[in-house]
Amino acid sequence: MALTERIKGIFKKSRNQNKWPGLIEAYRPWLPVSAKTPVISLQEGATPLIPVDSISKRIQKGVRVYVKYDGLNPTGSFKDRGMTMAISKAKEAGCEAIICASTGNTSASAAAYAKRGGMRAFVLIPDGYVAQGKLAQALVYGAEVLAIKGNFDIALKIVQDISKKYPITLVNSVNPYRLQGQKTAAFEIIENLGTAPDWLCIPMGNAGNISAYWMGFKEYFQAKKSNKLPRMMGFQAKGSAPLVFDKTIETPETIATAIRIGNPVNKEKAKKAKKESQGEFNYVTDSEIIEAYKILGQEEGIFCEPASAASIAGLLKIKDKIPENSQIVCVLTGNGLKDPECAIKNNDSIFHQNLNPNIDSIAKTMGF
Ligand SMILES: *Cc1c(COP(=O)(O)O)cnc(C)c1O
Repeated sequence: MALTERIKGIFKKSRNQNKWPGLIEAYRPWLPVSAKTPVISLQEGATPLIPVDSISKRIQKGVRVYVKYDGLNPTGSFKDRGMTMAISKAKEAGCEAIICASTGNTSASAAAYAKRGGMRAFVLIPDGYVAQGKLAQALVYGAEVLAIKGNFDIALKIVQDISKKYPITLVNSVNPYRLQGQKTAAFEIIENLGTAPDWLCIPMGNAGNISAYWMGFKEYFQAKKSNKLPRMMGFQAKGSAPLVFDKTIETPETIATAIRIGNPVNKEKAKKAKKESQGEFNYVTDSEIIEAYKILGQEEGIFCEPASAASIAGLLKIKDKIPENSQIVCVLTGNGLKDPECAIKNNDSIFHQNLNPNIDSIAKTMGF
């Protein structure tokens, strides 16, 4: 996709002419930062918007579908967009330690940015429900990992209480700087397409990201950088769909652990985004999620995590409602490498094992 003039300008301004400077520098006028803010960045943002014809073909009607592949951020999820802001502002305030509850990606991102900013990172996770890659990241980045016998919602309550009582900054999406950073993904989409899409399809867990995108789309619309606003289409896993059923789910369950959340903290903001944008919330089953996950892998060469595939699964589920010639963006929130166990269990590939190491038997197995 061609770079816009604005981004070319940013490349020129940065010290290294070909280097994206990270989203705080790229979108400084749109963010609550000042010359005093120490920018803690891993050059997050500027992720690709990739057309996915295998999905467009399943819909027809002249519809074009793209994925915003935010799994290509430095720690492999969109959380980095919010974390560069939250950690920079924490550093500016003189904070020495941060804390979060996490289904995995927040802890990976918080740990990376906190360490880069010279802070301690504490992360509370639901024991046994965090994908391997995410846990590995938090440990490698040097976080202090606290696994609790309880789900995400319980972990979040605990970290909220701790951050009120002790001198430690909470970096979950109740932290307003998180959403400020995350809204930049909407800016990038508008710059890539020249306007907002007709629909934005996005998975919802704590529902911060859908709220952040809506804020970003509105800001660019008000600044006349887009001539329209998208409908915000939020998707949850059926076993973990408090926003779809409009009630707290005490024991959420889904293969998509990143969105295994029963009581989203940003629910009011998300409902407002839905209402203002004439959007919809729908659920998808775990098998629909896996179906979409496989299509992206096998037909597009795109490896996302199961939670991210919920956006594609959701779009396919409601495809009869899509107006002709629409442009649709599905947000792929996280990288598939985060959850290798899910990948190995859920694929249709042929995996021949225990082969004799000689040409004849290999060729024969290959069908020659
Ligand atoms: C955090 C996360 C989500 C959910 O985002 P919310 O802002 O909590 O709604 C979805 N997918 C992935 C991969 C995530 O890490």
